[in-house]
Amino acid sequence: MNEFDAQKGTASVWAGETKPFVEGATTPPIVNSVTYAYRDLDQWHAVATGKVEGHIYSRNTNPTVHVLEEKVRILEGAEAATSFATGMGAISNTLFALLGPDKRVVSLKDTYGGTSRLFLDFLPHYGVEVMLCDTTDHEQIEAQIAQGCDLLYLETPTNPTLKIVDIKRLAAAARQVGAGVVVDNTFATPINQNPLQFGADLVVHSATKFLCGHSDAMGGVLCGKQELVEKVFRFREINGASLQAEPAYLIARGMKTLELRIERQNASAMRIARYLSDHPKIEAVFYPGLETHPGHAIAKAQMSGFGGMMSFSLKAGYEAVKQFLPALRFVHLAASLGSVSTLAGPPRTTSHVELTSEQRAQLGIPEGLVRYSVGIENVDDLLADLDQALAKLP
Ligand SMILES: *Cc1c(COP(=O)(O)O)cnc(C)c1O
Repeated sequence: MNEFDAQKGTASVWAGETKPFVEGATTPPIVNSVTYAYRDLDQWHAVATGKVEGHIYSRNTNPTVHVLEEKVRILEGAEAATSFATGMGAISNTLFALLGPDKRVVSLKDTYGGTSRLFLDFLPHYGVEVMLCDTTDHEQIEAQIAQGCDLLYLETPTNPTLKIVDIKRLAAAARQVGAGVVVDNTFATPINQNPLQFGADLVVHSATKFLCGHSDAMGGVLCGKQELVEKVFRFREINGASLQAEPAYLIARGMKTLELRIERQNASAMRIARYLSDHPKIEAVFYPGLETHPGHAIAKAQMSGFGGMMSFSLKAGYEAVKQFLPALRFVHLAASLGSVSTLAGPPRTTSHVELTSEQRAQLGIPEGLVRYSVGIENVDDLLADLDQALAKLP
């Protein structure tokens, strides 16, 4: 149970919305105001210096944005939350605010493409030592942590092959050396996984994905320990990667149906994964809910549902993918994930387009891989759709 003393489905609807809005409105107003006026100069000063709650300027805080932050904070069981213009805003602000010259970060080879770019191309310029480990090699990750590190940055499940890392085990190793632990929880969502329960200090989300759920707004959220969130918030206030009221409204609105959507997507993805694993034209299915998935036992221990994301490879390779994907009816062939509509695409064109085929092979990403983000459509229609498209393949 969260501090809201209610189940997640209830908290998704009510968190951030318990105080009455203007004129008794039952949905949060979209406060487009940049600035907030005070007639009492002492009160103004008290708010400006953080002694009294309130808003001063929307680059710092905004009432509509606060509603969204509260929803994520309460669903993750966090002390504090803050938000950003995009998921990458959340991740880059977190890494740049908490790292610096002579700091060492340990992470995984399979983090989100944008995150890998921060680790490989940007952080080293600022004197940060970056160590990226083989994603599921827990011994290697523990050994690297033991060599000393300031931050452990994890993502689970990963993109696109749904690898699973053990948050509890690695967070315990990080605690031994006094390192902070950040987990990107975008794929799982707070409905399926709460990393703070397993010893993480901070959780980041691309709110653009499942939290929003409709592919119509972008945002990012960070939540966790007050002191650390505050540190990142102070940096974001100044660098200006703030979330605006309108996308915050859309994401908070989407979050009211988060549990409904995720339960449906969990169930549909499980059925689709089983169907595909039995199909003769499918080479492999990557879904942590399958008993055959190498991370299944860990996933079962730390997730309450296995999520709506999966990937699968076709035996006939990329040429077959080119024929198969356009033959699907109920899917947008597009980047991104976590929407009400099913989205699919080949990682060689979407998440891992910057890599060479050799680099993709090293990460265990077959050229014939399809990433499939299950929407909320009726699962029988999705199954029939996959079936007819597979039947067309030689
Ligand atoms: C999309 C995504 C991001 C980046 O989020 P944006 O909102 O696109 O900036 C980060 N991590 C994961 C796992 C993602 O899927």
